[in-house]
Amino acid sequence: MGAMALFFGARARAGTVASNQDSLAAAREQLVADQIAARDVHDPRVLAALCEVPRHVFVPPALRSQAYDDRPLPIGYDQTISQPYIVALMTALARPGPDDRALEVGTGSGYQAAVLSRLVSHVFTIEIVEALARGAERCLTDLGYANVTVRVGDGYLGWPDKTLFDIIVVAAAPDHVPEPLLAQLQPGGRLVVPVGPIFAVQELLLIEKDDAGRTRTTRVAPVRFVPLRRER
Ligand code: SAH
Repeated sequence: MGAMALFFGARARAGTVASNQDSLAAAREQLVADQIAARDVHDPRVLAALCEVPRHVFVPPALRSQAYDDRPLPIGYDQTISQPYIVALMTALARPGPDDRALEVGTGSGYQAAVLSRLVSHVFTIEIVEALARGAERCLTDLGYANVTVRVGDGYLGWPDKTLFDIIVVAAAPDHVPEPLLAQLQPGGRLVVPVGPIFAVQELLLIEKDDAGRTRTTRVAPVRFVPLRRER
């Protein structure tokens, strides 16, 4: 009798978990359809990655019910997880290819790194707040996203001991384009970076390096990011 009750209890719990997962997946698909595909992000691989990665895992437990709203949310340490549309836009601008090596500056929650990891061969991501880096690492490991390496440090300097990157995405705003990041961009590579004054509106830039090493800058949109801090 006791064993039976236990058995049915476990089944009921498993059922609840499964339907929660279904409703979260449905909320995610609706967000992607209404706020991202309905706007200017159409790359099917990028849209599939956004449907796949469970953003609620990267959001503090108390805010999980808002994980599929299209807005940034606080993640502690005065930082935020970026708005899903902005993650989608930056990812699409970077034109991720399956063999690409990507660098992200500003790991934060790890969500942008998780999305990129579904689209490229490896993601190197660097975060200046150690506790955030460790939290992000835990979420990525729990999800089994093994092609992401998290490091604690000042991402202004990039990741100099690695070879060049096809993609660099910067999730915090410097007031100028960091020279080390330009230097670590592979010919043919794409750098997506918000540049502008601290705590004001910045401009999202797409910087493309051609095979001869020349760069071309496109101003994409006004955005608002937390400032890129420097280690001192
Ligand atoms: N990509 C993140 C967004 C985090 S907000 C996400 O998906 O959640 C930007 C992050 O950049 C913050 O966590 C902040 O601590 C970090 N940051 C700021 N300056 C930095 C620097 N110089 N190097 C690395 N990370 C930095």
